[in-house]
Amino acid sequence: MADADKPHAVVTGGGSGIGLAIARELSAMDFAVTLMGRDPDRLARASTELPNAQLVPCDVTDPERVGAAFAEAVSGAGPVSVLVNNAGIVRTAPFARQSDADWDAMWRTNVLGAVHCTRQVLAPMRDLAAGRIVSIASTASLKGYGYVSAYVASKHALLGLTRALAVELAQTNITVNAICPGYADTDIIRDAVETIAERTGRTEADARTSFTSSNPQGRLIDPMEVAGTVAWLVSHDARSVTGQAIVVAGGEVM
Ligand code: NDP
Repeated sequence: MADADKPHAVVTGGGSGIGLAIARELSAMDFAVTLMGRDPDRLARASTELPNAQLVPCDVTDPERVGAAFAEAVSGAGPVSVLVNNAGIVRTAPFARQSDADWDAMWRTNVLGAVHCTRQVLAPMRDLAAGRIVSIASTASLKGYGYVSAYVASKHALLGLTRALAVELAQTNITVNAICPGYADTDIIRDAVETIAERTGRTEADARTSFTSSNPQGRLIDPMEVAGTVAWLVSHDARSVTGQAIVVAGGEVM
């Protein structure tokens, strides 16, 4: 059960990977945390390590469901002071084989998902002492990569949304920022490594170097490094930081 006396943070896609790491960090900072995601079983597994988290199944692409989910979240844990737009998907294919359905899915999840959730929190957030919107974008918000054109376009759009909202809300108590991780050690990358190994006959260790080699530090980002950046962005010290794309990528983008 969430604690209504604590400030309330909602993490979309909070049941796994980077979102779960962020939820852990915010919970350790004494936020009441709500995890949203489509798969209730995934949320339930996450709650074994975060027993106080509020679990609200929600598909962020569905605006009606998002409205109902935020109503449920707020009734359990109070107005949202931190929204982390983390839910995201990637589908990999050469541009010529990326279908309209792929483009639609990535646009609806990676961009409209953040739009739907942000819409739900903005008005009540203005009445709080401070509000924070943090979107988990990507280095793909700042540079191109091959075979993921729809993903790169959607992540550029998510950063554009962040920058525009930051200007629009600059005179309020709300900051809006994006974190741009490089390749991180989560299921998205583990699945991609498996796919590359299957399709090319390379070993998984060799396929993994496709991802580690783009990071000058030669490694994948630990999701807790992204979570630590969220912790700073939601702190009082970061109240003048808005509209930023904070890169956590071992120097891949500078
Ligand atoms: P995961 O696949 O572990 O996490 C994605 C999460 O999003 C899942 O929990 C998933 O839960 C949820 N999700 C997906 N679609 C929806 C939806 N329509 N509605 C609600 N929840 C949804 O991967 P990561 O942790 O790696 O990814 C998290 C974010 O970080 C993504 O936005 C990704 O683009 C970004 N990122 C990841 C990088 C990486 O290398 N891993 C690098 C840069 C950015 P469910 O399926 O249950 O809905």
